[in-house]
Amino acid sequence: MTDYSDNKFANVFDKQKANQYEVGNTSYKTRIKKLKALKYALEKTYRQALRDAMYKDFKKPQVEVDLTEIYLVVKEIKYVCSNLKTWLKKEKVETPLTLLGTTSYITYEPKGVCLIISPWNYPITLTFGPLVSAIASGNTVILKPSEMTPNTSAVMAEMVSELFKEDEVALIEGEVEVSEELLKLPFNHIFFTGSPQVGKIVMSAAAKHLSSVTLELGGKSPTIIHESAAIENAVKNIVWGKYLNGGQTCIAPDYVLVHESVKTAFISAFKKQVTDYYTEHVKTSTSFCRIVNKRHFERLAASIEDAKEKQASVEFGGHYDASDNYIAPTLISDVPESATLMQEEIFGPILPVKTYQTIDEVIQYVNSKEKPLALYIYAKKKNVVRTIINQTRAGTTCINSNAIQFSNHYLPFGGSNNSGIGKAHGYFGFKEFSNARSVLKKYAPGPLNLLFPPYTNFKETLAKLSIKWF
Ligand code: NAD
Repeated sequence: MTDYSDNKFANVFDKQKANQYEVGNTSYKTRIKKLKALKYALEKTYRQALRDAMYKDFKKPQVEVDLTEIYLVVKEIKYVCSNLKTWLKKEKVETPLTLLGTTSYITYEPKGVCLIISPWNYPITLTFGPLVSAIASGNTVILKPSEMTPNTSAVMAEMVSELFKEDEVALIEGEVEVSEELLKLPFNHIFFTGSPQVGKIVMSAAAKHLSSVTLELGGKSPTIIHESAAIENAVKNIVWGKYLNGGQTCIAPDYVLVHESVKTAFISAFKKQVTDYYTEHVKTSTSFCRIVNKRHFERLAASIEDAKEKQASVEFGGHYDASDNYIAPTLISDVPESATLMQEEIFGPILPVKTYQTIDEVIQYVNSKEKPLALYIYAKKKNVVRTIINQTRAGTTCINSNAIQFSNHYLPFGGSNNSGIGKAHGYFGFKEFSNARSVLKKYAPGPLNLLFPPYTNFKETLAKLSIKWF
């Protein structure tokens, strides 16, 4: 057994470990009660405090807080509450002939003590969203939100301490060192949302205790615009999906692959759309937020300069203001592969646009990169959509729109390999925080008893017949 008694957080962990069976044996009604209390706090008591905190953190517009944070968690809670009773029922399964005399079922039991580490970009959704699944499955939970949105983390900490006892849910604020210390503890499950680089650190820490992991990671999400696409619709969606949260969205279109015949139409519609959404003076628009901090601002400004030095053409925007961590909505074409913009996840309001001639070329390009978290297709031709889906791999795909696949709780959400391991949301989130325990009960002697030792010639014949027929 691991000795973790000198760990800074051993006390909270031990309390939750001791309490895990009590929490794990609660009825669906008790769990729903907890979820409803969280819903009430989000919708009523803490709503304005959360909006204010997010404005202080990176000037996130109030409407975006309501839609992309509060609403998404509230909707998830409603869905879980109306289905939890069914999900917690024993799931009877069939019995093969050779096991006659037995009956079997699956029961979803909690994993135990769980750790949820969340990023800064959607701090409420990505902290409380997984918490909803963890509570539904009957776990105790330690939450570690990001240090980069300290105002939001502080309000969430207050909420958690008001709503839960420390031995069921605790929120620990702090820098990266806090995460590192927490990762030394033998959690039963770790749910991490963040970058692939840190995902690797989390997975190797988890390996020490064989803790199971869900890794919700990121990467570069391609957006393919076929010549058959309705350009105006594509642009309306892409501009919204890209500049929502200032481009700091894991499933934002990272770059656009547009058919060369529609490039000019795409660029001119794009310019018009940005102005329609954010006016000609985007900086003064209350609908467009800022980059979360200096480090990320400098990274993004440097990537614009790097692309310019490498002869890319700024089609729109391209300016920035360090005093306010402001990066203008930017569209850049002819970006060479060696540019940072094409090498790393952008995670900001800069959109490179590349042209192509054939769909084969697009497929080859996408498949030469890591598997994306999201792949978007704008096309009217069904066979084009089918070919792209069949010939590429991605965590999620949205056709003729973007980002909204996250909000359908009937769909699993998550990446594949570099973009993630495991799935979140709705029933998939519930299963992620549960162990599907298989239970078989023998109630009468069956054919298997005939095969117990000693192994006579008759039993050898029976074994051969079983292989052949059963
Ligand atoms: P990050 O990986 O830097 O940090 C995420 C969390 O990990 C934070 O709480 C941080 O404190 C902690 N952390 C950072 N370094 C650590 C270390 N060395 N050891 C242990 N813990 C550490 O990510 P971020 O900058 O907060 O978020 C941006 C990334 O998250 C992007 O790559 C984005 O695509 C991804 N993301 C993915 C999803 C998804 O649902 N798949 C959602 C949002 C963001």
